[in-house]
Amino acid sequence: MVDLAAVRSNVRRLRALAAPARLMAVVKADAYGHGAVPVARAVLEAGADALGVAHVGEALALRAAGIGAPVLAWLHTVDTDFGAALAADVELGVSGWELAPIAEAARALGSPARIHLKIDTGLGRNGATEALWPELVRAAAQAEAAGLVRVVGVFTHLAVADEPARPETREQLERFRGAVDTARAAGLRPALRHAANSPGLLGAAGLERPEDMLLDMVRVGVSLYGLSPFADRTPGELGLVPAMTLRSTVSAVKEVPAGQGVSYGLSYVTDRPTTLALVPLGYADGVPRTGTGGPVRIQGRTYPEVGRVAMDQIVVDLGAPGLAAPEHGLLGAEAVLFGAGEDPSASAWADAAGTINYEIVTRVSPRVPRVHLHATEHGVGAAEEQAAEEQAAEEQAAEEQAAEEQA
Ligand SMILES: *Cc1c(COP(=O)(O)O)cnc(C)c1O
Repeated sequence: MVDLAAVRSNVRRLRALAAPARLMAVVKADAYGHGAVPVARAVLEAGADALGVAHVGEALALRAAGIGAPVLAWLHTVDTDFGAALAADVELGVSGWELAPIAEAARALGSPARIHLKIDTGLGRNGATEALWPELVRAAAQAEAAGLVRVVGVFTHLAVADEPARPETREQLERFRGAVDTARAAGLRPALRHAANSPGLLGAAGLERPEDMLLDMVRVGVSLYGLSPFADRTPGELGLVPAMTLRSTVSAVKEVPAGQGVSYGLSYVTDRPTTLALVPLGYADGVPRTGTGGPVRIQGRTYPEVGRVAMDQIVVDLGAPGLAAPEHGLLGAEAVLFGAGEDPSASAWADAAGTINYEIVTRVSPRVPRVHLHATEHGVGAAEEQAAEEQAAEEQAAEEQAAEEQA
């Protein structure tokens, strides 16, 4: 279940932090697993200025859904269809070699490509190296003079913004400023300088000069979805609301004696008579196989998943015998792995699996139906007023999901 009201609330919060800089909402990877098209519509409604994706194919899918807002795609291969991108008015990130085929595609189309030049200020991934940057800006200026491109932006990506105490972020921003100066000296007039990701934006207030981080635009992803990019800060502390709930229902309950092995490898063995609950979510649904011990909330209590995560199912030890009797109502009870507030959280699953919350939400597979809620509102004063509505919407979503599961 994806709460689009939470997404909208997060956008409003992030916009307030970024202002006067613009906000690009990063909806790559199917909006980090949340559904690119519904999320794109929600973020634009809430005031995002532009959308960002990795691949041209992702940008074209947004256009095909009728979304006309500015979209930037920044990660290309030699097979990327730049002509299709330009025909769909998609802006393109350029790190080097892409300039020539993009200019060629623009010549064929008869109108200039809108491009953002990318400099690698330290991350060591894409972006022109500092050594090649002067050459890239010179070539871009020539292509601009020839009417083939318009350099609307210059950008870079930060490596350690989630660790605010580290000095490299400031060094990256200094190098970036130098790169912008070089671009201007070559005659370019990029209106949009952008560097900050979610941790960059959320940490900007702690900097001596926040405007050096915020620049003209920020590109935020994980924080849109209500997740914290910092190891030691919760979404609530950042004013964010988690948008995704991953849940199912208990599909079987059984009484077992002490000494019962659980799941492949029998790596978990019960140490007393107990009740086991089966939840039909596994690694084919995106629950990490390495996530043994991750939390599952059932009937208001949080239990650890036990034994190996299988392809289709996980097992929860309810910790006491006698719970399989029908009066306990466990068969069919809701089982929440994360979301629906912060407990349990995607971050707890990330900790169990040795990864980050970004991966936990992004890897939820297509087998899990996405149910998008629109109705609830988050924010000051809204919570209580909307509680009843939220409850109703959740019940409806549960019904819809049940119907889908049966289908
Ligand atoms: C994914 C990505 C972002 C968003 O990062 P978050 O940490 O999720 O905010 C921004 N810029 C680039 C280039 C990215 O690849």
